[in-house]
Amino acid sequence: MPQYHQFDALVVGAGGAGLMAALHASKSVNTAVISKLYPTRSHTGTAQGGISAALGNLEEDKWEWHAYDTIKGGDFLCDQDAVDIMCREAIDAVIELEHMGLPFDRTPDGKISQRRFGGHTNNETKKPVMRACHAADRTGHMILQTLYQNCIKNNVKFFDEFQVIDVLIEDGKCNGVVAVQLATGEIHVFHSKATLIATGGFGKMWKVTSNAHSLTGDLPAAVLRRGLPLEDMEFFQFHPTGVYKLGILLSEAARGEGAVFINDKGERFMERYMPTLKDLAPRDICSRCIYTEIREGRGIGGKDYVYLDFRPEQINKYFEADGNPKRIDAHYLETKLPDIIEFARVYQGIDPIKEPVPIQPTAHYAMGGIPTDNDARVLADETGRIVEGLYAAGEVACVSVHGANRLGTNSLVDLVVFGRRGGLAMADYCRQASFRPINRDAAAKEGAAQLDRIRNNDGNERPHTIRKEMQALMDDKVGVYRTGAGLEEAIDKIHELQARYKRIRIDDKGFKWNTDLMEAWELGALLDLAEVTAFAALARTESRGGHYREDYPKRDDVNFLKHSMAWKNGTITLKYKPVRITRIPPQERKY
Ligand SMILES: Cc1cc2nc3c(=O)[nH]c(=O)nc-3n(C[C@H](O)[C@H](O)[C@H](O)COP(=O)(O)OP(=O)(O)OC[C@H]3O[C@@H](n4cnc5c(N)ncnc54)[C@H](O)[C@@H]3O)c2cc1C
Repeated sequence: MPQYHQFDALVVGAGGAGLMAALHASKSVNTAVISKLYPTRSHTGTAQGGISAALGNLEEDKWEWHAYDTIKGGDFLCDQDAVDIMCREAIDAVIELEHMGLPFDRTPDGKISQRRFGGHTNNETKKPVMRACHAADRTGHMILQTLYQNCIKNNVKFFDEFQVIDVLIEDGKCNGVVAVQLATGEIHVFHSKATLIATGGFGKMWKVTSNAHSLTGDLPAAVLRRGLPLEDMEFFQFHPTGVYKLGILLSEAARGEGAVFINDKGERFMERYMPTLKDLAPRDICSRCIYTEIREGRGIGGKDYVYLDFRPEQINKYFEADGNPKRIDAHYLETKLPDIIEFARVYQGIDPIKEPVPIQPTAHYAMGGIPTDNDARVLADETGRIVEGLYAAGEVACVSVHGANRLGTNSLVDLVVFGRRGGLAMADYCRQASFRPINRDAAAKEGAAQLDRIRNNDGNERPHTIRKEMQALMDDKVGVYRTGAGLEEAIDKIHELQARYKRIRIDDKGFKWNTDLMEAWELGALLDLAEVTAFAALARTESRGGHYREDYPKRDDVNFLKHSMAWKNGTITLKYKPVRITRIPPQERKY
């Protein structure tokens, strides 16, 4: 039997963005969080390196410098008013986290410790600046634990291990969601005045990815199916330092502490490409440089990887060459990067204190997603029309503060700043709105029908085979380097996979903990997002940030200084809206 619930404010997703929104909404309205994972297992917990804020604790810094770096790093596709809000409010948000009890690393005089990260600079000297606040290399984990404990204290109601499969949208207004309780298979309808989507990324479209098994784009696919657009889907970030073949991330914090890339000839090759920032250049650039080294035969042993070298004696040698007086030892690295060092030991059997570590670029972060305004309100179209009662924040949303390429540490900032703004905006809205009527039985029936179609389908295609083919295709044709011909091929093949998806068969026909069923459902979401991603990438005949077209290698501001919006109504329709430029005119991106 379906079950029904009613809350003023509903948050889907219990990562940093969802918990920050729930915490702030729950201060004044009745709030619930639905999460398909137990909250503290959310992917925010894997964020290692830090959260940036121009606190200036160790050297001079200004939020305006942070904003400039973010806009330049994003290859001028960021909406600049949103970036200003993020960088200004980052300072407050980090101090708010500190006061909630987050155990940041400290300087000897008790301030929050900060370190360098790619693309973050002193705008005057152009040198890297220490802007990333961190708790060893477990910053995301600490954020998640701190926010979860504060939500519990605030009486937020949690529905753990409930997977949302539909968003209730009628006449341009959102009235809640439909979820399945994973332990029982029961359908639950959640009726709300305001709903905020904070379901994180969707990197599982690719094979080599830093993203967890759960990051399958369920909610972006659900809103797309309900007639809403997705923004800037062609911009997906490939992080330079995934563990070779596995994609598990070795955070940029390693390079923040001094590690460098090395090719087969033993060269620190970033010196050739980016003489000022070198190994701390933004991620899109580092990823392309690594691929260029590999293509030109300088991968290690001629293979498709290079080394990340963070042996203490090597780091000290590079510090000396750069005129940096700092010197470190093994104990320092074990203290500052415990998880990263452990990952290399466990997953590669390599001790990074003694040997360089094989790495390759890995699919990492969605710059695009559900379009929102600066208060996390979801947009219905390119004119800025709002979907009443619907909000989105965190990696799933596109505000857009990351433009065409996100700087490291800026995602955690995005979560806390726009999570908080979204929570407050929802609470404001809930105080003056009333519940709109819904047809609960029809919603439950429709939700159950979605799952029954898969449960009872008697086809001959296996979901895992289709998933593997999609992921290999996306790595090959919709990866770091793209071409028109490759993208056309990708679209044809995705259509073929979608047709085969209609003929799938699963073995488990049951209701309790049916992961076979839920993974098959998630595959449908991923295929929809893969289609939109490839379409938007084919239409953008320029190279900008994470989107690099070998057949159009230059950035084209005349034709493409604009955001894409994609709808799926049988086929994909693309429209565009201008980038909001306020203070900083677009310029060539040099480091
Ligand atoms: C290895 C790694 C290291 C990183 N390091 C950093 C860093 O140092 N600094 C930085 O700024 N960024 C970092 N990032 C990026 C950053 O961690 C993520 O972008 C961010 O944590 C996403 O947070 P979120 O709240 O949007 O979503 P998540 O933390 O991914 O949470 C998503 C939530 O949605 C829920 N959910 C998903 N689908 C459903 C559904 N259908 N129904 C119900 N619930 C659902 C999940 O259960 C989960 O609770 C890193 C990312 C990775 C992968």
